[in-house]
Amino acid sequence: MEMGIKDENVTNSILEAEGIYFSYDNGYDVFENINIEAEPGKFIAIIGPSGIGKSTLLRILGGFLKPDKGIVRLMGKPLYEPTPEVALIHQSIVTFPWMDAKENVMLSMKTKNMTKDEMEEKATVSLSRVGLDGFEDLYPKEMSGGMRQRVAIARAFAADPYVFLMDEPFAHLDELTAEGLRQDIYNILFSGETPLKSVIMVSHNLTEVLELADEIYILNNIPATVISKVQVTMQRPRSPRSDEFNANLDMLYSYLTPPRKKK
Ligand code: ADP
Repeated sequence: MEMGIKDENVTNSILEAEGIYFSYDNGYDVFENINIEAEPGKFIAIIGPSGIGKSTLLRILGGFLKPDKGIVRLMGKPLYEPTPEVALIHQSIVTFPWMDAKENVMLSMKTKNMTKDEMEEKATVSLSRVGLDGFEDLYPKEMSGGMRQRVAIARAFAADPYVFLMDEPFAHLDELTAEGLRQDIYNILFSGETPLKSVIMVSHNLTEVLELADEIYILNNIPATVISKVQVTMQRPRSPRSDEFNANLDMLYSYLTPPRKKK
């Protein structure tokens, strides 16, 4: 475990946010001096009490919202707007009911200069990457929630992003399905067969966070700041039943006190 933020060489990070301040138009100050850094090969989780600003932070990291102060950099270059290199995966599973799995995945290639055949081939590869080999022609209504979320992940992969931003990606799945996808997801994400370099996930499920993350940023206070950064060194696969896992879980819970307003 490690407290505070390390002062590291910025060029080593895939995505980083430095000195982020942000207020909504209604004057609500969400962030004060947020610093986050995602290094290559790292699965980052962001946790904090409900309403602290986790989803807002993901939208800032993806270039969807502009910070009032501070900067987001993708591979060292300022990020001012959304880019296909950073994929945002929402908690609500977005698949279009009138399109089959393959067509849903092809949506993310529409802006690229590709022929239909190239798009179809890439969609098939992306679907097999998430374990949906042979399911290309299924429509969302014929799929389970877990399969639909896999389609959404395949669509994100098909745009060849460097970073995945995941907002509660398992929240709307039943627990068994979520557990199955969680067990697969780390290997899917870091298979080494795609340009993907880093994942930043927001979750309120601390067991899920401990199963997946290499580093955990803990947000608290109003306005929110990073009150701690925890390195998770447990070996994978991680068993939620181990003593070490439970000790880490207790430690994380202790950070999630109700937020206090700073004067
Ligand atoms: P979390 O993801 O941690 O639950 P959010 O990022 O959704 O938190 O929201 C952070 C805070 O900003 C909350 O208090 C929320 O009510 C407020 N908020 C979210 N979106 C808006 C908006 N569009 N305008 C004003 N306030 C907002």
